[in-house]
Amino acid sequence: MSRALARRLLEAGIRDERVLHAMAQVPRHLFVPPSLQWRADDDVPLPIGCGQTISQPYVVAFMTQVLELGGTEKVLEVGTGSGYQTAVLALLAREVCSVEIVPELSARAAAVLLDTLGLDNVRLKVADGWEGWPAEAPFDRILVTAAARKVPPALVGQLREGGRMAVPVGEAEEVQQLTLVDKAAGGAVTSRTVLPVRFVPIRRGEPKLQ
Ligand code: SAH
Repeated sequence: MSRALARRLLEAGIRDERVLHAMAQVPRHLFVPPSLQWRADDDVPLPIGCGQTISQPYVVAFMTQVLELGGTEKVLEVGTGSGYQTAVLALLAREVCSVEIVPELSARAAAVLLDTLGLDNVRLKVADGWEGWPAEAPFDRILVTAAARKVPPALVGQLREGGRMAVPVGEAEEVQQLTLVDKAAGGAVTSRTVLPVRFVPIRRGEPKLQ
């Protein structure tokens, strides 16, 4: 992504310097289909195939900012999609474990994240992320990039004490609320909504070839 877009994100209210820096560093055009690369620097979501979209840069920046990453965290992402959000997280956290239910998308994301960009702190898995990634738990942060009807209980269980999850929650397909779930030391869980967002719904079940 260009510096111009990072400037636009600053104007739009993204204030975390590290987030702005990471957004400026990740080449978004690598994560969109060739026919749409001319639009990669626009602050809009774009189709990536398999009925899915790469998130709008503002939303990626906002979700990353609310996770308040310091660089030491182990992060779970549910919904790898293009891998764009994964790359931003990888620049700001210690380790990112990302789960995607569509095998083709996970394979494409792996090619960019692991082969092209050489990010060595990213681990990808094809699975239903509603169940999280039990073998890698607990996580300091969890980011869900598909819409859930309620906060996924398994993910609350895999959140470390003192940790935070951001998840779009809503009954309607048109709009959800980005919800922050904090787990305090001792295990008490609180949640609050911070931004109306629009994500594709989370799918359930076994991963299937499209
Ligand atoms: N953050 C991504 C956008 C993800 S779109 C990006 O910037 O490109 C949402 C993604 O969640 C889609 O790729 C979809 O296939 C995936 N998804 C939906 N349900 C899922 C589930 N249960 N487990 C894992 N991934 C899921």
